[in-house]
Amino acid sequence: MVIKPKVRGFICTTAHPVGCAAHVQEQIDYIQSQPRVDGPKKALIIGSSTGYGLATRIAAAFACGADTIGVCFEKPASDNRTATAGWYNTAAFEQAARQAGRFAKTVNGDAFSDEVKQEVIDLIRTHFGQVDLVVYSLASPRRRHPRTGETFSSVLKTIGQPFTSKTVDVHTGKVTEVTVQPATEEEIRDTIAVMGGEDWQMWMDALEEAGVLADGATTVAYSYIGPELTRAIYRDGTIGKAKDDLEATALRLNERLRARGGRAFVSVNKAVVTQSSSAIPVVPLYISLLFKVMKEKGLHEDCIQQMYRLLAHRLYTGGEVPVDDQGRIRLDELELREDVQAAVMSGWEQVTTDNLAQLTDIAGYRRDFLRLFGFEMDGVDYEADVNPDVAIG
Ligand code: NAD
Repeated sequence: MVIKPKVRGFICTTAHPVGCAAHVQEQIDYIQSQPRVDGPKKALIIGSSTGYGLATRIAAAFACGADTIGVCFEKPASDNRTATAGWYNTAAFEQAARQAGRFAKTVNGDAFSDEVKQEVIDLIRTHFGQVDLVVYSLASPRRRHPRTGETFSSVLKTIGQPFTSKTVDVHTGKVTEVTVQPATEEEIRDTIAVMGGEDWQMWMDALEEAGVLADGATTVAYSYIGPELTRAIYRDGTIGKAKDDLEATALRLNERLRARGGRAFVSVNKAVVTQSSSAIPVVPLYISLLFKVMKEKGLHEDCIQQMYRLLAHRLYTGGEVPVDDQGRIRLDELELREDVQAAVMSGWEQVTTDNLAQLTDIAGYRRDFLRLFGFEMDGVDYEADVNPDVAIG
């Protein structure tokens, strides 16, 4: 079939297998242009098919020579629907990794469930013995609790007061005002249950109990802080409460793993265009301004550059891991630099529908968004007939 983008709100319901493979290859090429890293050899990546998790898997495999097991929740092609982008990314990654002589297997299923944890443990036992790196990079709108069976949905709301701010409809370019309502206590609790640290803790407990976590292993999960502009909706909002919980989990896990020479961290990454970040109100307008400023200053980074820096310049330097006063790794120092934020702020005050294209990098945002689904990749023939049916596993 000939596959074109079909954008509905903040998702694209089609994905292009050849374009997704090109996007994965571009990230592999970047890693191969960088010095090798003496890092993990057997890595488990939970949330491995898109965004930061996929970039970490690529960096671990191609900068460190790691064998990897991935976990993701993607859909294969069916009848007249394409597979999801993460499915095609995974197929392309596995093929490239195996060609490079690296082991790569992926479990496609609900990472929050006991069954998927057990399936992964069995795979580790059979193929690795133990893992020395566990990356937790899930972003999900809901979670079914494996013990109680309760299903929690996460919300992107403020806490306490409503918040009114500029926002953009990325696809029409219309800048409007949006008011985000405060969450109820139940919504706050549910968001923490989905995006907080409980499931990460459950993974680490299960891996340790099964004896498949190596002595000296590292585990890392991802967080975000962001600027004053998005504070009410992000860091001081429901998702921020979940990140507080994730960060507290890292400190607890670190205490525990230290006894066996291991370590646990949260890494605070920069804002990038992913399927998850496009769903947050206000954030896409901020990212469009941020990209303009960071590109002009020669500071722009995407997931793959950030994840290379995480492995090469933070986790596996051979020395102490630099952390902030709350024990967090910081990869957002360029985003939060004073001159960068001052320029973003000045653009923010002036931006309207009429000057959006001049003041922001909305074109770069749209391009990055389409590239998440394998569109807008150079060298891909989008008029060609392609087979949407691709295998992973
Ligand atoms: P993403 O949407 O690109 O990736 C999410 C991954 O989780 C995918 O691999 C998906 O298949 C997997 N997943 C979701 N639900 C699952 C389930 N039930 N079972 C198994 N797999 C499941 O998201 P992302 O933006 O890369 O986010 C990853 C982490 O990075 C999150 O913790 C996020 O808060 C953090 N982060 C993101 C940004 C940003 O700007 N995007 C910035 C800093 C930190």
